[in-house]
Amino acid sequence: MSIQKTPEKNNILFVWLNSYAGILLKTPSKTLAIDPVDVKPKALQNVDAILITHEHYDHLDQRLITEIQKSTSCTIIADAASTKKLQLAIPNDKLTEIKPGDEIKIGEVSVKAEKSNHNAQAPVTYIITSEDQVKVYHTADSLPFPELAKLGQQENFDMVFCAVGIAPGTSPESGFEIARLTKPQIAVPYHTATTASQRKFAELLKLELPRTACLVPEQNKIYQVSKRK
Ligand SMILES: [Zn+2]
Repeated sequence: MSIQKTPEKNNILFVWLNSYAGILLKTPSKTLAIDPVDVKPKALQNVDAILITHEHYDHLDQRLITEIQKSTSCTIIADAASTKKLQLAIPNDKLTEIKPGDEIKIGEVSVKAEKSNHNAQAPVTYIITSEDQVKVYHTADSLPFPELAKLGQQENFDMVFCAVGIAPGTSPESGFEIARLTKPQIAVPYHTATTASQRKFAELLKLELPRTACLVPEQNKIYQVSKRK
């Protein structure tokens, strides 16, 4: 699944890659893959960076990442536990450990790590800001946590990905709570294998958060998102 088209200024394109938190995101200048699993290495030929949120099997596939890294020479940014697992396979200068509060630049695209409320060794969530300030928050498997409200105020998110299933404790309701706290322009229900939980999430948003639009993604389709006016 590569994105051939380049987004226009003030836009990004994204694809949901699997039933989990796998996202391919393209800004006008860079292509990032977050937590790619269940995809063919050939499908991710043009990535500049891979971001990993935590070491669980549905987020970190060491063999896949090693293969993609070899063929693209991309940068890998990962939480501490995933970094440890990747260390032997990835060249030193291509692997960067990240922890909450750190910011790393991929060209003019910013990747900032925040905390995650998920039972893994050192999980993070990622705020990705494109070169023209489109702001995306990838919350991986995180359950809601109080600091999200502050982030929502500070960051003015264009789009937030919200887990609605599979991971322990997650549900349409917990995903909705992430959207409620972060107040994005667009909320995207993911990390689920059922459309019913996505629909439930959409209903909750419509009822209780009418100013946030719901984008219910299908896997392997390309979506465009514009910067908030
Ligand atoms: Zn997961």
